[in-house]
Amino acid sequence: MNDTSSKSPSKVYDTIIIGSGAGGLAAAICLAREGQKVLVLEQHDVPGGWCHSFYLNGHRFTPGVHYVGLLGEGEATNDLYRGLEIANELVFFRMNPDAYEHVHIGEHRFDYPANFEQLIDRLSERFPKEKKRIRKYLNLLKKVSKELFSMPYIKGFWQKLTLPYRTRHFGKYALFSLRKVIGWHIKDPLLRNILNIQCGDHGVQPRKAAFPLHAALMNHYFQGGYYPMGGGGALIKSMTNTIKKYGSEIRTSTTVLKILLEGEQEKKAIGVQLGDGTKVFAERIISNADPGITYLNLIGKQHLSAKLQKNLKKRSIPVPH
Ligand SMILES: Cc1cc2nc3c(=O)[nH]c(=O)nc-3n(C[C@H](O)[C@H](O)[C@H](O)COP(=O)(O)OP(=O)(O)OC[C@H]3O[C@@H](n4cnc5c(N)ncnc54)[C@H](O)[C@@H]3O)c2cc1C
Repeated sequence: MNDTSSKSPSKVYDTIIIGSGAGGLAAAICLAREGQKVLVLEQHDVPGGWCHSFYLNGHRFTPGVHYVGLLGEGEATNDLYRGLEIANELVFFRMNPDAYEHVHIGEHRFDYPANFEQLIDRLSERFPKEKKRIRKYLNLLKKVSKELFSMPYIKGFWQKLTLPYRTRHFGKYALFSLRKVIGWHIKDPLLRNILNIQCGDHGVQPRKAAFPLHAALMNHYFQGGYYPMGGGGALIKSMTNTIKKYGSEIRTSTTVLKILLEGEQEKKAIGVQLGDGTKVFAERIISNADPGITYLNLIGKQHLSAKLQKNLKKRSIPVPH
């Protein structure tokens, strides 16, 4: 194995990333491109986390990619894939623009069109009494999402001074649940359920989901959905190719058991211990694993503040779909 011995804490790698999910690989690309030597460690025998693809009876499945939104020219995901230098390797199929999302509730069926105005028209035709409220609610949802994503770009004194005004819809509704906000706007229970159907994507029930979370999710798909040729595995392949192109490394079937700490109060992460006992050291350690696993299993309860332990206890992990 090409690794640093447990007796020699010399740092071969600038950064170790625990987990090769899309998040871990995206971080690896950014760091490797900046000249860092990155090592990605993955417990599974294939990289990709939820985005990996597997074969069963000759069919390819991807557990965690059903559709991707905002892939039009100049849209966010398109920019992201270009920024990660993986866009040229990817081909996407546009899902039926007239019905990219099928809703089945009991005997009711509704198809989401891949266009904001068409969605309003189709819903208004089906629920004429709610016509005005549908437009108001969906416009609000769009504004809250836009304001949320505008925040990192609000720079400079004057822009910051006017932030409460620029993000006023977000500010007004951010602390309320989806169930509360939709309840204030939409009266028909079937219509509410149709509008909440994409809760399946973030995995949080309307009573627990923060309104901006759902707003961002729905806004992501207002222009419809796309599917990558080759499934989620194609996204992962292009990401691992880019990481290797920049001279960094991905090791599969390599479980991290522990994050090694150093310092007076053992506050600094200096390396990791693998399943076979090997220790690998780096300047920085990034965990792409779930926060519960990272803090409780890999770092250990004894190194956590009482406050963080309390927060972790409260935290329940939503499982989408
Ligand atoms: C059922 C489902 C459907 C989804 N559908 C869509 C969709 O249609 N469109 C969309 O855009 N998104 C979808 N998502 C969301 C998307 O798949 C995930 O958000 C994304 O893949 C998460 O990536 P991640 O890097 O955060 O984490 P993960 O994919 O969870 O990656 C974490 C990685 O860390 C590894 N790991 C953990 N612990 C260790 C350890 N100790 N040592 C080594 N490795 C470790 C794991 O094996 C895993 O590979 C869906 C998710 C699910 C679950």
